[in-house]
Parts: sequence; structure tokens; C-alpha cells
Amino acid sequence: MKLLVHACCAWCLGKALPGLAKEGVGAGEATVFWYNPNIHPLIEYRRRLKALKMLCERARLPLETEDEYGLVEFCRAIHGRETVPGRCGICYAMRMRRAACTAKEGGYDAFTTTLLTSLQQHHELLRAAGEAAAEEFGVAFLYRDWRGETADPALLKWLYKQSYCGCVFSEYDRYRATTTHLWPPSGRARPAD
Ligand code: SF4
Repeated sequence: MKLLVHACCAWCLGKALPGLAKEGVGAGEATVFWYNPNIHPLIEYRRRLKALKMLCERARLPLETEDEYGLVEFCRAIHGRETVPGRCGICYAMRMRRAACTAKEGGYDAFTTTLLTSLQQHHELLRAAGEAAAEEFGVAFLYRDWRGETADPALLKWLYKQSYCGCVFSEYDRYRATTTHLWPPSGRARPAD
């Protein structure tokens, strides 16, 4: 099966690899696809893409990228629905539609996403977005519940693991209650003017 694997990050691709192996997707059949306009800010976006490139090299998987930093596109798309899960449904639809379109144009048999490995995502919303995109573009969506998969322990030692989902709103949700990321750190005197 010629499969396009949308990847949200290296961490989730690491977990998806055993799932793909169980599907019998062999070498030369899977291509990893990067399109994630939801990841902000820019340095974090670049960090996650670099980590994905490193994993694909190591796993000998071809990688196709739509390397557009999509802050404006993403914020326009979710405008008026900035809370969870509304923004997430739009976010999934953006990514699944682009994956489905790319799969169709590239002559793939199906597409899937590493987001299906995540315990943090709205799994049923994600599944619905994948299936809707499949119907719209006329290409199959490989749905699997990969939330129980674990990455090879050898990978876990060096795979980059992010601390928030991706968008600026999720970064805010993650850190709004903490003071530990402020500067100067508590207990340290402010430098003299
Ligand atoms: S929290 Fe995650 S899934 Fe939801 S909109 Fe933000 S980046 Fe997308």
C-alpha cells in the first residue's frame, strides 16, 4: 500500500512506526508528510521540523514537506473559535484536507496521521476530520487507534518532545498558571539598572 503519513511531530511519528509495521507497510511504501500551520512560534516550528527530518533520516523514510510557517493562515482560520475543542476541529480539518489533497495528487492509496497516536488529541474529532477529507478528495483515510503504541526505547532517548500541542493558544493554556518560566527567576535579584 502506498501510504502518505501526515506527521505532526517526531515524537508521534516514533509512536506510529510500530503501528505502521503492524499494518505491513514496508520500506518504500510510506512517505512522511509535513504540513502543520498550527505550530507556533517560529523557533518551535523549526525545532519540530528539524526533529522530524532527523527521525526520517534515521528510519530511512522519505519526507515531503510543505514548509510554510502558517501563523496568519491558522489564526484567520480559527478566528471566532479560539477555544477547545472548536479550534482543534478546524486545525484537524486544515491538516487532513491538505494531506488528502496531496495523497490524491501523488497517486497514494491512502493517507493517515501520526496524530492518531496522541492521548492529548480529540480522537473522535480527528477521525471525523480524516474521514471527511477522504470523502472530499476521493482517497482513503487509514484510521487506526494508535494511542496504545510506544516508540522504540532507543528512540526515546533522543527524540524531541514538545511541552504543548502547537498553537499559541495551546502554549497559553499550558503555561498560564505557572510562574516558573518568568525572568528573572523567583529568588534571584533583578539586575541593577
Ligand atoms: S490545541 Fe493543538 S489541535 Fe488544538 S488547535 Fe491548537 S495546535 Fe491544533
